[in-house]
Amino acid sequence: MAQIISGKEVSAKVRAEVKEECDALKAKGICPGLAVIIVGDDPASRVYVNNKKKACADVGFISEEYALPAETTQEELLALVEELNNKPEINGILCQLPLPKHLDETAVINAISPMKDVDAFHPSNVGKIMIGDYHFLPCTPAGVMEMIHTAGIEVSGKNCVVIGRSNIVGKPMAMLLLHENGTVTICHSKTRDLKEICAAADILVAAVGRPKFVTADMVKEGAVVLDVGINRLDNGKLCGDVDFESVEPKASYITPVPGGVGPMTIAMLMKNTLKAAKLQNNII
Ligand code: NDP
Repeated sequence: MAQIISGKEVSAKVRAEVKEECDALKAKGICPGLAVIIVGDDPASRVYVNNKKKACADVGFISEEYALPAETTQEELLALVEELNNKPEINGILCQLPLPKHLDETAVINAISPMKDVDAFHPSNVGKIMIGDYHFLPCTPAGVMEMIHTAGIEVSGKNCVVIGRSNIVGKPMAMLLLHENGTVTICHSKTRDLKEICAAADILVAAVGRPKFVTADMVKEGAVVLDVGINRLDNGKLCGDVDFESVEPKASYITPVPGGVGPMTIAMLMKNTLKAAKLQNNII
């Protein structure tokens, strides 16, 4: 039987810490502010944006929503980013992805000031993570690391396998495990012998985007299994990339979906926004 690492519990702890620090900043006359840009009316994006605004309210941040119509031009979007880059009350800027097809996501990410880039998607922040000298970590991999730390799991020397190599999850996840001296393998759709590689992992992170992709035969007895996937099944229920029922009895630790990595992502966004506010006020 695996120990469940509850993202609800760990994220509540992180948010309580952020709230405490936010209260201390407010006593100095500083209130962290996050601007959230949403373009178009994608229902999933709307849910994510609402959750982020609610999290801001819970920890005591100011949040500003900029909801733009789907037909917004690249120039209009970039002009808004520039305005927010120069707005002192705003410490963090987040543009909810994906953007409508006619907009250039890379150009928008590149336009956000690296000091306000609380998603840590800007190339300058990505490069800093590679070097291991950074202010902001991307929220989802940082959330996974926070769960690993809270559970007291040692990464050093362990075989770590990350399935998925996206810029927002897989690649930075691998880098963070490497920074903690894991021996890291990154798998993707062209990987041969995926099952054997996964079955050798002490720590297995699934960020594939396919429901119940990781089955028990891919997991070593006693492995730590971290499930980043968020997939919606035909019955409307959420499900991870790991087949929880079959994998849980073999794992030593496992994260559930829902209630696992998902809540951590937003908690780490709050942590990054707090840090941005401190940096911009020369408090760190
Ligand atoms: P992407 O679609 O960008 O990346 C998926 C990765 O999985 C790719 O690298 C792809 O390989 C790899 N992959 C796909 N099929 C296979 C296969 N058959 N065998 C091995 N590898 C495969 O997804 P994201 O990284 O953005 O997200 C991954 C999952 O995490 C999704 O379910 C997403 O919803 C969820 N997510 C959850 C978050 C949270 O807060 N919990 C935040 C962000 C994402 P290749 O590169 O070769 O195509």
